[in-house]
Amino acid sequence: MSGELQHVLLPDAVVVVDGLGVVVDVNDLAVDLLGRGRELLIGSEAAVVVPLQSTTGRSAWTRGPVDAAQLHLRTFLLHPPGHEAFPVQAAAIARSTNNGNADGVIVSLRRERQAADAMEVVATVSHELRSPLTAVKGYTSLLLNRWGRLGDDQKRFMLEQVHHDADRVTRLVTELLDISRLETGRLTLHRQRVDLVELARSVVAKVRLEYPDLTCTFEFPDDFPPVLCDPDKIEQVLTNLVENAVKYASPVGLAVRGKVADGHVTVSVGDHGEGIPAEDLPRIFERFFRAGHNKPSGTGLGLWISRGLVEAHGGRLTAESTVGRGSTFRFELPIRPPASS
Ligand code: ADP
Repeated sequence: MSGELQHVLLPDAVVVVDGLGVVVDVNDLAVDLLGRGRELLIGSEAAVVVPLQSTTGRSAWTRGPVDAAQLHLRTFLLHPPGHEAFPVQAAAIARSTNNGNADGVIVSLRRERQAADAMEVVATVSHELRSPLTAVKGYTSLLLNRWGRLGDDQKRFMLEQVHHDADRVTRLVTELLDISRLETGRLTLHRQRVDLVELARSVVAKVRLEYPDLTCTFEFPDDFPPVLCDPDKIEQVLTNLVENAVKYASPVGLAVRGKVADGHVTVSVGDHGEGIPAEDLPRIFERFFRAGHNKPSGTGLGLWISRGLVEAHGGRLTAESTVGRGSTFRFELPIRPPASS
């Protein structure tokens, strides 16, 4: 049966081991998880290429696949050669019957992410929080210590910076809360009738306060309807898309367009930047993904959160891009929420 699992879409990594403890099949997720090519995995000993250890350091394969068949769902450490060990949840889901031998086992493996990812989110966001807070502390100290010696323009400038940095901190904390709510399915939407044309104009005007070079056209049909959605969440999505366009593409010549069709609306934010290479395009919605180097700071969480917020509304967020010409991010929302949400 070797190779049969290759293109089967399963939510977990799956490894089929025969009665002699030899790997006879793996799916694509197992190839990713185990960090070796399919051709190296198949035909190798499971104890070597699927090195599962209990928390006390005992190999799951000590007594061969028969013993492994007793695996109930629990956490093991997987320690692939040349990589750091990481926790996986493993369970034997069936006995395999390769070559008439009933003693093999089919094991399913899932990387245990939550704890590690939560730490990464905290580390990334804390890092991003530090710089605005350092600036707030610096400017307020200056204002307090030298109030009488500072000119009005200097005071205004410092207060504007503090104001702006406080907004940034608030946004980061909102993002942090959204992440945990999206992950646990506890995000509550406060829907109301929202004029997205007005919302888009106000988002662009706010971003322009920080990037005065920003120019943008708006194209919405006259019959563009109000949409039942959570205005704060959709404002967050639009802000992320407009800010990204300004930061990573160009502040000049943005276009926000709206369309209506079949019970839903589509809003797009187009830019004339360098575009996003085809290999990066599917990854920009992943957590922590940031293409390229030497760019303005960021967490790589914005698009991941935006997609989650749009999907919580029963909608979709997609991107298309042509290198050298620019990118368009487009979200679709039902005009009225689906009955269940
Ligand atoms: P962050 O802005 O914090 O990096 P995002 O999730 O908002 O996180 O964006 C992820 C990455 O996608 C960015 O780091 C950037 O490389 C890329 N990106 C997003 N929008 C654009 C755009 N309009 N043009 C080019 N690259 C973009």
